[in-house]
Formats: sequence, structure tokens, C-alpha cells
Amino acid sequence: MTRYIDIHDVQKLLRKTGVAPFIETLADYIRDDYLRWPEFDKSARVANHSRDGVIELMPVSDNDLYGFKYVNGHPINTRRNLLTVMAFSVLADMHTGAPLLLSEFTLMTALRTAATSALAATVQARPDSRVMALIGNGAQSEFQALAFHAMLGIQEIRLFDVDPHAMIKLVRNLENVPYLRVLCAGSAREAVRGADIVTTVTADKANATILTPDMIEPGMHLNAVGGDCPGKTELHTDIVKNARVMVEFEPQTRIEGEIQHLPADSPVIHFWQVLSGDVAGRETPEQVTVFDSVGFALEDFSTLRYLYDLARDAGVGRVIDLIPELDNCKDLYQLVAPSAAPASVAACAA
Ligand code: NAD
Repeated sequence: MTRYIDIHDVQKLLRKTGVAPFIETLADYIRDDYLRWPEFDKSARVANHSRDGVIELMPVSDNDLYGFKYVNGHPINTRRNLLTVMAFSVLADMHTGAPLLLSEFTLMTALRTAATSALAATVQARPDSRVMALIGNGAQSEFQALAFHAMLGIQEIRLFDVDPHAMIKLVRNLENVPYLRVLCAGSAREAVRGADIVTTVTADKANATILTPDMIEPGMHLNAVGGDCPGKTELHTDIVKNARVMVEFEPQTRIEGEIQHLPADSPVIHFWQVLSGDVAGRETPEQVTVFDSVGFALEDFSTLRYLYDLARDAGVGRVIDLIPELDNCKDLYQLVAPSAAPASVAACAA
């Protein structure tokens, strides 16, 4: 029995929970899974690149459950009014291989990326952080803003995007969030000046330098979300070289993250070890910290678990006939010859 959750079901669930509470509970699921890191069978995602983008498969499993996500990244898509990032995902039973859940994951990816970013900031940003710059105001941006407002206590967000329409959209979507001041800046530099946290979530298939070393102030936390592919980064290399850099799954981040420009043995700290309290996310209030986010399969796995729990409790989604259910599991042929006579034992014995 496979439960199918489409975008309308997800909207229904989010109307019940609210977006910010959904992100907060999702962050708990993500933290719980990172805290049992050694239990997972992990690999870097499989990426198929084209001139304009990438399509990726992201699998991970523990003893009981297997999850994978299909996701793309095509920054050029917005010119055709298509989403840059689109996704669907599957949760399956490791004991039988049966798919339990097939779900929309475009919206879920934005929610899980925001939950992961904010969770990372709880262990890396200065606890007194109240102001965030948000560079790149596209599809992911509202979710980032809401996550940092709810989980970090961010009270002021300064926006910048090269597309003024994206900024206007973001201001409009955030205008009714209580106790959140949203300001537009004329440049990334202006947005970043004096900020405690800087989130970069731009889309460009290039080694961009959204932030340069002269824009960085002591104690800043950089949440670098948009650099997530070979040849697609957002920070000047010197920023990364001189910061305390936290990664999700090092083998994948070495290929896709900001650290792709650094030597293979450049120091990094690991998200799961920081969450467990074994390693400090930040050592001093003046230190510059970077969460080199690329998005790891475990975050999707946690999201699938949460969604599956929520959907079953709320009776949302529907059970679909994705896999055949048979009277005789060795007789798959019955599906194409339903009127065939039952097998005769005598015929076999003859
Ligand atoms: P989007 O295309 O909807 O929005 C991207 C925005 O960035 C656009 O509004 C664009 O105008 C802006 N932009 C591009 N170059 C800029 C620049 N130099 N300065 C300021 N703004 C600039 O894309 P999205 O869905 O919001 O995704 C944003 C990025 O996040 C993508 O690169 C995507 O691959 C990445 N992403 C990462 C993760 C992760 O887990 N790390 C998850 C999802 C998406």
C-alpha cells in the first residue's frame, strides 16, 4: 500500500499546522536523524549535468527505512516561468522494499532546506543574532525568512535580489508576519552591512562572488545555500578559507559546496558532531562561521518521515495501486491474463 501525497495534500497539511510550526517540528525530525548519523547508509548524490542544469538522485537508508529524492537545479528555468528546483520523493520499507510513500517534494525541499539552515544557525550563529541579510529572493526565500524568525528570533531581514520583482514579491509575502521588519537594500553590500547572519540563496550556474571578504564583519554567520553544484558557488574563496566551515556530508560537499575551491584537506566541522555537542559550531563571538549547505539526503529522509506521520494521522493523501497486490505472488502474469483458467495441478503432474 503506497500513500500518495500531491501538492494539494501538502497545502492541506500546511494549513493545519502553519508554515513556521511545520518548519520547527521538521527541524526536530532532522536533528533526531543527524544525532543517529552512524546508523545511516550514506552516499553523495548521483548528479547528471547538462549545459543548463542538473538532475540528481539522493538516496539514504537506516535499518528500517529507505528514502530517495529526485530533484533538479536549472537556474535558467525562471526565464520560462518554471521553477529552478522541482522534486518528488519516495519512502520505502527496508525489510520488503515496498514503497510506503510517494510525495511531492518541491515545497517540501524549500521547507526542509529552511529547517536545516535554521537548525545549523542555532549551533553556529551568535545567540544574540537579530538581523539577517537575505540575498536571493526567489522560491526558497520566504521559507528561509520564516525559519530564522521562528527558530533564531530574527527580527529584521534586509533583502537584496538583482531582480526587483523578486524583492517586491518577498516583501509582500512577509508583510503580515508579526514582529518581523523587512527592508529592501540597494545592493548586497548594503544588505549585509551590520547583519548578524547572512543567507545567500541565489541561483546562477556560475562561480559567483555574492559576498567578498571586505563585506564580512567579525562574528557573522553565513548560511550559504545557493552554491550546491560543481562550478556553482556564491562566496569568495578567501571568506571560506578564513571561516569555521560546517558541512553536512563531507564527500558530497567537497564536490558541490563552497569548499570545492579549497584543498581536499582544508578543515571542516561536521553538522552531526556539532549537533551532538562533541564539536563547537563557533569558538568565539568574533569568529566568522559558514554553513556550507548543499542539501543532504538525510534531510529529505527526515522530511519523508514527518510527512508520512502527519499524513496518516490527518488522513491526508490517498492510497494508490502503485505496486500490484496478487492472490499468488508468483503469478504476476495474472495481471495481463485475468480471464485465464486456474492452473491445474494435474497438468503439472502429467
Ligand atoms: P530561484 O531561481 O527561485 O531564485 C533565485 C534568486 O536569486 C532569483 O530571484 C535571482 O534573481 C536571484 N539572483 C541570482 N543571482 C543573483 C545575484 N548575483 N545577486 C542577488 N540575487 C541573485 O531559485 P530558488 O529555488 O530560490 O533556489 C535558490 C538557490 O538555492 C538555487 O541555487 C538552488 O539550487 C539552491 N538550493 C539549495 C538547497 C540546499 O539544500 N543547499 C536547497 C534548495 C535550493
